[in-house]
Parts: sequence; C-alpha cells; structure tokens
Amino acid sequence: MTDALHILKVALDVPLDRVFDYKTENPNTQIGQYVVVPFGARRMIGVVVGVSDTSSIESQKLKSIIRLDPEVIFNEQSFKLFQFCSQYYHYPLGQTILSAVPSRLKKINTKAMTKKYLYRLTKKAMQLGVDQLPPRQTILKRIFTAFIDAKELDEASLRSISSTWKKSIETLDEMGWIDKNEVTLDSKVYKEAPIPSLNCDQQRALHSILETNEKFIPWLLYGITGSGKTEVYIRLIEATLKKEHAQVLVLVPEINLTPQLENRFRSRFEKYTLVTLHSHLTDNERLNHWRLAKEGAAQIIIGTRLSIFTPMPHLSLIIIDEEHDASFKQQEGLRYHARDVAIFRAKSENIPIVMGTATPSLETWFNATQTKDAKKFGFLKLTSRAVQDSSLPEIKCIDISKSIVTKGFSPYLIEAIRDRLNKKEQSLIYINRRGFAPVLLCPSCQWTGQCHRCSSRLVVHLNQKRLRCHHCGHDEKMPQQCPSCGNTDLYPTGLGTQRIEETLKEFFPEAHILRIDRDSTRTKEALNDLFLKMKNREIDILIGTQMLSKGHDFPHLSLVGVLDTDQALYSPDFRASERLFSQLIQVGGRAGRANIKGEVYIQTAFPNHPLFEALKTHDFERFANELLKERELAELSPFAFLVLLKAEAHQLTHVMKFLNEAMQKAQDLSHHVTVYNPVRPIMERLKGMERAQLVLQASSRVALQKLLDEWVSFLRENKLGQKVKWVVDIDPLEF
Ligand code: ADP
Ligand code: ZN
Ligand code: ZN
Repeated sequence: MTDALHILKVALDVPLDRVFDYKTENPNTQIGQYVVVPFGARRMIGVVVGVSDTSSIESQKLKSIIRLDPEVIFNEQSFKLFQFCSQYYHYPLGQTILSAVPSRLKKINTKAMTKKYLYRLTKKAMQLGVDQLPPRQTILKRIFTAFIDAKELDEASLRSISSTWKKSIETLDEMGWIDKNEVTLDSKVYKEAPIPSLNCDQQRALHSILETNEKFIPWLLYGITGSGKTEVYIRLIEATLKKEHAQVLVLVPEINLTPQLENRFRSRFEKYTLVTLHSHLTDNERLNHWRLAKEGAAQIIIGTRLSIFTPMPHLSLIIIDEEHDASFKQQEGLRYHARDVAIFRAKSENIPIVMGTATPSLETWFNATQTKDAKKFGFLKLTSRAVQDSSLPEIKCIDISKSIVTKGFSPYLIEAIRDRLNKKEQSLIYINRRGFAPVLLCPSCQWTGQCHRCSSRLVVHLNQKRLRCHHCGHDEKMPQQCPSCGNTDLYPTGLGTQRIEETLKEFFPEAHILRIDRDSTRTKEALNDLFLKMKNREIDILIGTQMLSKGHDFPHLSLVGVLDTDQALYSPDFRASERLFSQLIQVGGRAGRANIKGEVYIQTAFPNHPLFEALKTHDFERFANELLKERELAELSPFAFLVLLKAEAHQLTHVMKFLNEAMQKAQDLSHHVTVYNPVRPIMERLKGMERAQLVLQASSRVALQKLLDEWVSFLRENKLGQKVKWVVDIDPLEF
C-alpha cells in the first residue's frame, strides 16, 4: 500500500507563467508557505499556491521539496490580489508574489524580532539647550534640533538625519542628555498641536464617507494643500478603529513619508499600534512591521506603494494621499499602479477607499466628476485653506520673449529675490526636473559632448571638471579643447542647477545659497537636512529641481521663481502638461504658508498658455476639464486604455523584427484594438542598447485584456526574445 501523495503547486521566481509540481511528506503544508525546491541544477525559493493529490507528472519523476518554512506569508485575500495583479499586468504569478513580500523573508530567515529603541532628550538637556553643546559638531546640533521638533525619535528617523547618528547619541548619553526606551510599539508618543474642530467642508466629507456603512466606494477627496485633508483622514481612521479588530492602510508617496507626518499620526493614535513600511527601513524593521500588520496586531499601517500588498486580516479602510503622484507606479518588474491595485483590493474586500489630492490625476478626476453611468467615484471637495491666516500665493508670469534674460534670469525675478533678501525672507528657485542640463558646446563648429552609449548629451559638472551621462553614468574628463576642431574656447550652455547657483552667487555674493541636486531630495536624509536648515534660516535661496514634500512647511519662504518649463508645454509625452500643472501647484504651495504673503514668478515665452491662465486663478478644475476635452479628441487615457511594449537589443534590426512581428500578431488577434507602428523613443539608445517601442490602444479594457492574454504568451515564445529584452507596460505613465 502506498501513501497518498501530497503534491504542492509551487510558484517560482522565474519568467514563466506556470506553477511547478513537487512532492512533500508533510500533509499539513498550506497555501502561502515558503519552500526551497530543486530547479534544474539550482535550488530556488518558491511559494506554495496549491495543494493537491494529483499531478500530470509521473510520480517517479516528481522531485521533493528541500525545505519548508513554517510561516504562512499570505492569506486568501492577498492571494486574490496577487492573482489579479498577475493577470492584469501579465506578469508571472511567482514573480508577482515574490516581488510583493519583504526581501528578508525570501532568504527564509525567521529570526526573532530585534529590540528597538526610542530616544528623547532629558529635562536637563531641554533646560541647557543647544548653546551648551560642544562647538563645531554639526551633526550633533542637527540631531538635537530634530529632537526639539519631534520630541522623540526612533532609529530610522535618526539614521535619516545622519548615518553617524550612533556617535552623536553616545555623546549625548555621556552628557546625561538622552533617555532611551525600548519600544513596545504601542506606547511612547507625544502630543502635537491642539485638535481642531472640523469646518463645514470637512464635516460633510467625513459624514458622507461614514454614512456608506463601511461598504466599498472609491472617494476622491479634492482640496488644495492645507485644506485639511489629513485631518479628515485622521477622523475617518478614528471612527473606523472604534470597531473591534479594524486595520487601516494609509498609502503615501515615498517622499512624503517624513518624520513630521508620521509624528502627526502617532500623536493622534496613541492607543493604537502604528507601523510604517517603506524603503528606508532595514530589512529587519520592515519584516517586523510587516508581521505586525499580517497578524492583525498593528491597526494603522502607513506605507509607500509596495505596502498595498501587505496581508491585513482586518483591513477596513484604505487611504491614498497625493493620489496623483507618479511614484505610486512601479517602473520595473511588476509594473503595477498602487492606486489601481488598491481600488481592486478595496472592492474585493468591500471597504471604502479615500484618495486625497489637490491635483487629481485626470483618470481619477474623470471617474469622480464625469462618468456618464452611475458615478464611479464619490466626489468630496474642501474649498479653502483650513487655517484662517494663510492664503494662496499670487502667481505671475514673466514674459521672457519681451525681457532681457541674463544667464536664465529676467530682471524682475532678480529684483524679487533681492527684495526677499532685504526682508530676510527666503526664495526658492525651481527648474523642471526635465529641464535642459548644461552641455559643453564648441561655438565655432557646433560640437557638443555626446555619450557614446546613449543618445544623450553629456552633462557638464563644472566643480569636478567632468562630463557625465545622466542615463548610464559614463563619466569623462572635460576636454580642454574641441575634439572636433581644436578650438579652446568651449563653454557650457543650457540651464542646470550648478549654473543657476553660479549665476545667483554672482548676483548675490552675500546670500546663503543651497542647491538640491538632481534626485537628492528622494532620500529622507537630504530632506530632513534641508528642512532643518530652512527652518533655522541657514539658507536664503534654495535651488531645487523636484517637488518639495508635504509636511514640510517653510514659514519664511515667500518667493518661488520658476525657470525653464516651456518644453513641457509642447512635449511629445501627453501627460507632460498634467504633470507640470501639479508640480507648479505643489511648488507654489511652498510659498507663504504662514502669515507672509507668497508670490510665484514663472518665466515663460508663452504667458498666455491656458495652463498658466488656469494656474494664475488656481483653477485646477478648468484646466483638468480642458485637458479632458483634448484627451477625448485624441483618444487617450482616460478615454482609451493603453499598453506599451518596449524592446531593446544590441542590434536595431533585432528590435525592429521583434516589434514588427508583435505588431502583426496584435493586428491578427483583434479588430477592437488599435496597433501603432514601432517607433524609437526620445532616448533611442541607452547603455549601449538600441531601443524601440509600440503602443496598443483600445476603448474597451475587456477587448484589450483578451488580446493581451494571447499576445503576451506569443511574445514569451518568440525566439527573438533571447536577443531582445522586452517588457509590457499596462497603463503606462511615461512614453
Ligand atoms: P492637507 O492635508 O489638506 O494639506 P492638513 O490636514 O494638513 O491639510 O491641514 C493643514 C493645517 O490646518 C494643519 O496644521 C491642520 O492641523 C490645520 N487644520 C486642519 N483642519 C483644521 C480646522 N478645521 N481648523 C483649524 N485648523 C485645521
Ligand atoms: Zn550614457
Ligand atoms: Zn569645435
């Protein structure tokens, strides 16, 4: 007599859309457990997605699993979510699951939780104050100031201030200035400002959502920065958590998850266990937080896009702050949009989901205001700033086609900055991230420095006297003379943050100027540093290329100067103007938030462009409705659904052959889907690879998905796939 076979269906981290059968002796193995299995000559980690007593493989040929991890890492609800993502984004199930769980688990490591500590200043430290600190210790001073702001800091926050935080804490400890408490996660918080009573708009919003009895409805909570959206979230969470066993998930863009925001939530939810999930945590911290969520022990989870996959047995409400933010879309691997996955999850768990923003994405705006059938989304609006003494900044355009511009600056802007310096107020000079970076130019033969691996120009880094490619990292010495004609009079052209800094230093030699480098505001460390320096008025002029985040008020900032955004007005990317509008609203919102009036100066050659007309009156609605008309005519999102197939290879002929076959196949598969010809993207070559792409467009999501089911398998089986690297991006954000 033979024992009954226990066959496990195992999903592996391989680019194949199927599961694999393995034997086990353990009759209690469950769906959602990790296994190590033999795969070819290798060992691989996989997850059990099915248990059965039959297999299409002969039992002698079946291999046994090598190890089984006791922890069940997802429940039925999460499994549904993984299946949805795998199907909708046409990404293999195993890879979907394995990209959605914390990395530490993948190593099959179930170490016990490590101890965590919270630090705060002692009474003595508070009495003696910053002046009694040892001199010339900037980090120490910064950490001290952070304590004054936040009262209490954990290791993650300290690490975000400086990587050498431990040394500073030791110093403070030796001085008897620091208290250290072990975290039990549900204690230790401090009070913030008094709790405001809600205004009419806020009350209406809150009641509308609560009236729906915890059922699935997607809500757009639309209101300018400072209109009290976060306060509405907090009240909603309070109401939701009154129910026994409730959990709430708050999704935020990475850049917005600041200690300030976290503290605000902690101070309002002292009784509850609140955990964060984001990429600045250590693997261990992330794992611990994730487990608390999974076990239902944490009631509030604040996290960035990946946290949408966190198993939460009692999930009762999802909130997405800054719904429009592009960082919710993952741009590699599983190319999901966390907002869309969240809506699916809320629907399948039948719970409300609230999306807050001052500048909704056009898709959300459309769903909340214009769908013809029964309204898809609920629409809630907060009409004014919640705090009485703050007003919206005044926005002005400076017509640079009619004014003399010196090294990027018109005299009006220079005068405005000078005026702020005299008044001891701060200015922010903003250039669009996609603005031109400075390139080296030979005026006699028009030579410019080109990257030999990418179709891009090399960017001048004056301080280091180097030329760098911002796409592949290639780096070379700045030539003394033109490699093409020998001319020695080469000069950089185009606006970059470094050149702007140099220019401002010439205009204002006495001013303290800080330049935020490309992408440097992504790290929490840089942001905190900046925040403290701005607060302490160590900076007069800030030069930045990216949105500065929420939760960071700059009370002394009263002027924002915007340079060089015009190319976004006429960009080939149809989302460029939508993005520009929301960036300008965000960056403008930095000016004049306390009781000094804010002004925004935009330098442009198109001062009458509808985008600026709408911006001047802070009229998102008018702008969005105009854009929607354009999108409808052009049959673009949200009126059509798009799919982007991107391919690259060493040889262009391979790429084109692959894409042409893909195009042909798509045309054969459906008449309801428009298939465009393959084209080269703006960046034709990247890191030595030739690139091209094609777009599918359809007015029916169903028709598109039906086509994709067959089409993606066809692409996977294509022999050229060995030479050509390709990805399918469903609902792409960038082209
Ligand atoms: P948003 O999330 O829309 O930017 P917040 O909720 O952060 O707005 O509110 C902005 C500021 O106004 C915060 O300091 C908050 O404490 C305060 N605030 C919010 N609602 C009220 C209210 N009803 N009365 C007074 N102050 C409020
Ligand atoms: Zn390059
Ligand atoms: Zn030359």
